[in-house]
Amino acid sequence: MSGILSQDIKFLPGVGPRKAVLLNQELKVFTLGDLIYYFPFKYVDRTKFYTIREIDTSLPYIQVRGRITGSELIGVGRNQRLVAYLTDGTGILELIWFQGIKFITQTIKLNVEYIVFGKPGEFNGQFSIVHPELDENLADQSKKEGFIQAYYNTSEKLKTNFIHSKNILKLQYAALQLVRGSIYESMPSWLVQKLGLVSLESALITIHFPENPQILRKAEYRLKFEELFYIQLKLLHLKEDRHKKFKGHLFTKVGNYFNDFYFNHLPFELTGAQKRVIREIRKDMGTGRQMNRLLQGDVGSGKTMVALMSVLIALDNGFQCCFMAPTEILANQHYLSIQKFLGDMAVKVKLLTGSTKKGERAIIHGELLNGNLHLLIGTHALLEDIVQFESLGLVIIDEQHRFGVTQRAKLWRKNFVPPHILVMTATPIPRTLAMTVYGDLDVSVIDELPPGRKPIKTVHYFENRRAQVYDFIRKEIAEGRQIYIVFPLISESEKMDYKNLEEGYEQIIKLFPSPDYAIGMVHGRMKPAAKDLEMQRFKSMETQILVATTVIEVGVDVPNASVMIIESSERFGLSQLHQLRGRVGRGAEQSFCILLSGFKLGAESRKRIETMVATNDGFEIAEADMRLRGPGDIEGTQQSGIAFDLKISNLAKDGQILQYARDIAESIISDDPSLEKPQNDILKKQLIALKKNHLNWGSIS
Ligand code: ADP
Ligand code: MG
Repeated sequence: MSGILSQDIKFLPGVGPRKAVLLNQELKVFTLGDLIYYFPFKYVDRTKFYTIREIDTSLPYIQVRGRITGSELIGVGRNQRLVAYLTDGTGILELIWFQGIKFITQTIKLNVEYIVFGKPGEFNGQFSIVHPELDENLADQSKKEGFIQAYYNTSEKLKTNFIHSKNILKLQYAALQLVRGSIYESMPSWLVQKLGLVSLESALITIHFPENPQILRKAEYRLKFEELFYIQLKLLHLKEDRHKKFKGHLFTKVGNYFNDFYFNHLPFELTGAQKRVIREIRKDMGTGRQMNRLLQGDVGSGKTMVALMSVLIALDNGFQCCFMAPTEILANQHYLSIQKFLGDMAVKVKLLTGSTKKGERAIIHGELLNGNLHLLIGTHALLEDIVQFESLGLVIIDEQHRFGVTQRAKLWRKNFVPPHILVMTATPIPRTLAMTVYGDLDVSVIDELPPGRKPIKTVHYFENRRAQVYDFIRKEIAEGRQIYIVFPLISESEKMDYKNLEEGYEQIIKLFPSPDYAIGMVHGRMKPAAKDLEMQRFKSMETQILVATTVIEVGVDVPNASVMIIESSERFGLSQLHQLRGRVGRGAEQSFCILLSGFKLGAESRKRIETMVATNDGFEIAEADMRLRGPGDIEGTQQSGIAFDLKISNLAKDGQILQYARDIAESIISDDPSLEKPQNDILKKQLIALKKNHLNWGSIS
């Protein structure tokens, strides 16, 4: 940015030291550049004028020109209001104020032409606007007749200090007057030409003062493209850089471990998607560069098998592996199922969790160092410094969003040459988000479920159908099925929630008494051993109903469980609901998900529940979730260590621009990996500036 853009905002006419502090604090606007990059959140088309006769109250806003013929105070106390009568010769429009009456009374002028703007209403055939915007119809540029007006978000504090959207617009006008002519182009001219973009300066002027919708769209496109493009360029550059800096283990072979397993132990035919993903991983580990791959696959898509077969490739090349899961239950489950898959194969696998006994730990530490142990499965316990390998070649991390960036970085340091990293997640991330948050990783997607799965039937019942739900449970249990009943738990420490859970449990025990029924309960406050015991009892069918909190959300596999009942489902997020539902539908039987809720549903809760009923597709759900909550709130983005401060783009809406920006960035990086060509000089400078600036897209692993 040129010098003038970094000028302190307090010197801008109309700001001054006091307002400057407010702008600093409330909007993080410190310089002229910050102000100009503080973009409007909406526009209102004020190119159109209506006559009073034409007023239609279904319009969100209208704008009329007219003169005020008189005004009067009506009512008393809280009902008191000022009513002014505006006419344009076609009718009379009432302008009504409940607040600021004194000020308005003093300032409105009779027989002067005003432009009046606001939301029209009607009472007894009389049109009115409450708290209209009122401007004298002057030839002033910033109030020019017929234009598209930008609106800016402000805060309560700004408003009480008289900094409204309109005032920000005025400041923008003043700022643009100052900087006009000194905003240099931030993209190479060949790219600007190739893509037919408008110049940065004209885009910045237009974004605040658009003359018409067509020009506005071009300006928006230019600014969105630039924003997304530089993020992609940065991520791809980072990836390129990492490839240069870090050698990876070269896995050249597919040998006995893999082949013996594939031909003699694989209990089922791999799905096409599993095969494709295993090929992708194999290829990646055979390049001599370190693999950093994200494996996305919906719940039940068979990621564990992909993990195992990747491990076998590492073993074939003489390396050890570790496999990290977010909870003890899951680590345990992976341990058991992988041992079962391996059968009598000579692969030494051990489990290391918080509850591993001291003596056993010492043995594990020793066997890792002397290379006797092939695969270590575990929880965070794997991250401890004392856990050292002879030759760690591959790290697999399940349910990645539960681990932070720094935790993953620790795994890197367990070997001189960093191990290959495969991060698996069952929380599908919308494509646009994946491209941005994980843009420097390679992504594999399992987009196919193993055959024979019947889609889970999902229904939504209000409280009043509870009895019916219990009848259904009895019927399913009579047929040998098992049931989950999940209660919401916003925070593991909320007493209130435990009360819900415990009351729910008491109620279920009454409704389903022993000896006919056996009920288990798991929640996050239990000791891991007790929790595991309960899970184990459910798995082995000692209990038919498991009352639980979301601790069963991730990855737990009990194929015989066919009904998932979610209590107060309106309190869960979409991805959580989807994860919970994924606990059933794992066997051959038809499975069901019943979403119970109270009668009062907010618009968002309703939408979430509707989405769940409408689709089983995790990616669709992820997209819906992003539309509902905005990209910043999607699970995984906060923990990923990436600050989301997109100023103009919206990942839920600008997917096409993003894809295009990524394609262009890819072609530039592949043509000029270090951005050394003169025509890419601006790109390089811009990346360096971004690095110094606020954007800090840390490497993921
Ligand atoms: P997730 O991707 O949710 O971790 P899992 O790896 O737990 O899924 O797999 C879910 C279930 O499907 C497991 O019981 C697993 O053994 C089984 N499974 C995996 N792949 C296949 C396949 N290709 N054919 C049949 N069953 C499979
Ligand atoms: Mg899993």
